[in-house]
Amino acid sequence: MSSDCLFCKIINREVHGEFVYEDDDFVVFKDIHPAAPVHLLLVPRKHIRSINDLETEDSDLVAGLFMIAKDIAKQQGIDKSGYKLLFNVEKGGGQVIFHLHLHLIGGWKK
Ligand code: AMP
Ligand code: ZN
Repeated sequence: MSSDCLFCKIINREVHGEFVYEDDDFVVFKDIHPAAPVHLLLVPRKHIRSINDLETEDSDLVAGLFMIAKDIAKQQGIDKSGYKLLFNVEKGGGQVIFHLHLHLIGGWKK
C-alpha cells in the first residue's frame, strides 16, 4: 500500500471503483474514461510502480494478470471479437497512475 496512490485507495475502498472482479491478488475495475465500449483495468493488489519495478518474485503475479485477462475477456463476451492488452510504462509511455495495471480494451463491432 502506498498512501498517495489512487489505485491503492480504490483497492482499499477509500475511493470508489466499479469492480467487475476481485480475488486475493487482483482487482479489476472499469476505467473512468473508457477508450472503448469495454475498458477495464487489471490491477495487482501489491503496489508495484511500473513494469520496470518487477522483481523475479513477481513472476507468478505477471502470469496471473494474463490468465485473468483472458478470463475477463470471455466473461465480458469480447474474447472472440477480440481486444487489446496494454501496459503504459512511465511518463513517456503514457503512464499516469504509477501502480502497475494492464488495460483490457475492446467491445468494438466485429
Ligand atoms: P495509465 O495511463 O496507463 O496510467 O492509465 C491510467 C488509467 O486510469 C487511465 O486510463 C484513466 O482513465 C484511469 N483512471 C484514472 N482515475 C481513475 C479512477 N478514479 N477510476 C478508474 N479509472 C481511473
Ligand atoms: Zn498503489
